[in-house]
Amino acid sequence: MSWLSRVRYRWLAPLAGVAAALAFAAPASAQSIIRDTEIEGVIRGWSDPVFVAMGLTPEDVELLLVNDPDLNAFATRGRIIGVNTGLILRTTTPNQLLGVIAHEAGHVKNRHPMRDGAAAAGAQPFWMTMALGALAVAAGAPDAGALLIGSSQYFGTIGALKYMQSQEGEADLTALRGMNAAGESGRGLVEFFENFRSQEVFSDARRYPYFRSHPLSSQRIEALRRPAEAAANYAHVDSPERMAQHALILAKIHGFMDHPNATLREYPETDTSLPGRYARAIAWYRDGQTEKALAAVDALMQGDPENPYFWELKGQILFEEGRPTEAIGAHQRSVELKPDAPLLRINLAHALLESGDPDNLDPAIDQLKRATAMEHDNTMAWRLLGQAYDRQGKEGEARLASAEMYYAVGDTRQATQFALRARDMLTQNTPEYRRAMDIVFASGATQDDLNDLERRQRRQSDGDFQPVP
Ligand SMILES: [Zn+2]
Repeated sequence: MSWLSRVRYRWLAPLAGVAAALAFAAPASAQSIIRDTEIEGVIRGWSDPVFVAMGLTPEDVELLLVNDPDLNAFATRGRIIGVNTGLILRTTTPNQLLGVIAHEAGHVKNRHPMRDGAAAAGAQPFWMTMALGALAVAAGAPDAGALLIGSSQYFGTIGALKYMQSQEGEADLTALRGMNAAGESGRGLVEFFENFRSQEVFSDARRYPYFRSHPLSSQRIEALRRPAEAAANYAHVDSPERMAQHALILAKIHGFMDHPNATLREYPETDTSLPGRYARAIAWYRDGQTEKALAAVDALMQGDPENPYFWELKGQILFEEGRPTEAIGAHQRSVELKPDAPLLRINLAHALLESGDPDNLDPAIDQLKRATAMEHDNTMAWRLLGQAYDRQGKEGEARLASAEMYYAVGDTRQATQFALRARDMLTQNTPEYRRAMDIVFASGATQDDLNDLERRQRRQSDGDFQPVP
């Protein structure tokens, strides 16, 4: 899976240009986008019907999990909704989490511009639009090694942006309407706000960034409560299945995010529930107790041998312990059980590549092609594909994969350069050759740019030329 791990933290580092643009922003704690097929699947399973009920197209809404213990969430006009792991962990029911996501979707639906707290007037600054676009595509990168985006400054800046009070009320009501239309209760949103409202009165809840950007007032909660209670589906409660999913994703987040000791305290061995056993397996793995972790995963599998995420976890443990050949079988099984998940295929391809067996290069390339077909902006997949082709000596295909990777994160300059290099190495009129030319032109290069670039390349290669004696 593409979670951060004990050995290698899979952060996404800042994209150079974006980081420069955001250099003025206040620094915040380390944050990044995390990818996890299981958690994304659960949350999208709850949210997508609400998005549809709100008139949004789920495929157009980018839902990002931000690895940050602070309680925060945000939405942008670029239809990106970010939810911190810290917020997810503070929800006690699926309905509460869904309510917060629906509220953020309410900002998206109403096209509310985020504003800098200091500059109450004016549109969303252009650099934010740019940065958010880049963020959206880079969200496809499950590994820090790949490309560079989502700096701490970046999220610090987003945290400082606000909506107007009237827009908060509007987003609340849009959320309630969407929830009710999707057969959901608005109770969770009211509850979530109420919990923090009461804390705010007595304690330092004001330090939560979410309630700096979403100020709570009794008027606001009352304005939310009355229509929530009047709605037809107010009495609807989360199903036991949903409650179980919620407990499981919380356990997974604790397992991967908290210090292993903290996880083992929160889920002691007396807790024989599925979430408890899941959290401990992850904590032992992150604590370097590999054999104990593997035994715990095997025990989980005995109860549910067809769970792709248990196989994924087993593969991850083996892979991160430097046993890629053993990881292949586990990742293979996770792909068989969930063939529509690109991240699982990328895990498998990564293990195949790291096994060092040349016979595994073609299967790795096959998996990466399928993954990029499903998630075209996944930079990790493009990077690994480039490596695989490189090892096969297919330089043109390798350059094309790099071009795709840069194109995916919006670095059109690098995309053009790599696509031009690919073009020179690929056989004319093959699909790969045509794709290289597509990237060149889609990146906005003009014929003048191309001539200029070719002149410079020729000069460079002339300079490198060593006459044969
Ligand atoms: Zn809001």
